[in-house]
Amino acid sequence: MRVLVAGGAGYIGSVVTAALLSDGHEVTVLDDLSTGHADAVPEGAALAEVSLHDSAPVLADVRPEAVLHFAARSLVGVSQQQPEDYWSTNVGGSLALLESMRAVDCRRIVFSSTAATYGEPDALPIREDAPTRPTNTYGASKLAVDHMLTSYAVAHGFAAVSLRYFNVAGAAFGLGERHATETHLIPLALQVAAGQRGSLTVFGRDYPTPDGTCIRDYVHVADLADAHLLALPAPSAGEHRVYNLGNGTGFSVQEVLDAAREVTGHAIPTTDGPRRAGDPAQLVASSDRIRAELGWTPRHPDLVGIVSDAWTVAQAR
Ligand code: UDP
Repeated sequence: MRVLVAGGAGYIGSVVTAALLSDGHEVTVLDDLSTGHADAVPEGAALAEVSLHDSAPVLADVRPEAVLHFAARSLVGVSQQQPEDYWSTNVGGSLALLESMRAVDCRRIVFSSTAATYGEPDALPIREDAPTRPTNTYGASKLAVDHMLTSYAVAHGFAAVSLRYFNVAGAAFGLGERHATETHLIPLALQVAAGQRGSLTVFGRDYPTPDGTCIRDYVHVADLADAHLLALPAPSAGEHRVYNLGNGTGFSVQEVLDAAREVTGHAIPTTDGPRRAGDPAQLVASSDRIRAELGWTPRHPDLVGIVSDAWTVAQAR
């Protein structure tokens, strides 16, 4: 299939681009490189250095049969201080992209949504029919695009899938996480192990969990890529499907740090800090729906394996 990957110079977008290429698809990446890296775009994909807002001429030129849309601002904390950037890029940019698609009669899309659309859960594991009550602008902006896709499916015959990622981690095709502002636990722990920072802070040890630290559902980026390839042909015209993507197993911050120590052989010193605002005690996905409907099965559910793959790529860099 001829596909356009918006945000294909970022962490997840570049891995999925590599997976699409190895599956025989023809890929053009559209990315303004505001947070992505040109050298992360896999060989074999074309790169159009353009923002979502200016995507129309690129789509008119490429004439894609489908779009995978990863391009977004994704820092929860910043979204609370600069909401305008999140509404403009995540919502305004997505609207521009959908209109660019409609102009060339391309109506198939897979969108990167997030567990942050749910907010604080009433029940675990979180299913797709759970209430959506985002607690930050990042989650609200992603939820707005999910709603946009529902209405484009109904009104304009789009075939859409929203994949709600939980904690994506690991590396694949030699591509890993590389953010100018790193806030995520696993890459921060690996930066400590690599000597790039002295220690990290554990945000709260007083949560109602077995060891007192927060529990999250870490899913390997290679498994996430599999899910995109399965999702791409799945919906019919007029259909918008929503799938959660997680392993269904939670690991605590303490367990992640222990795994990072085991993988790297480094002590990874930590200090204990207060809770981070807006962090729920536990976020664990039910991925029953995507398993049942698309036959998705995570091939790399093991935490040590996830951390180990991230470490291998971080060291090579
Ligand atoms: N965390 C932490 N110290 C850090 C970064 C993260 O204790 O320096 C915790 C954070 O509070 C959360 C978990 O690690 O409970 C995962 O956070 P991350 O930012 O990686 O992902 P999120 O779940 O926020 O998407």
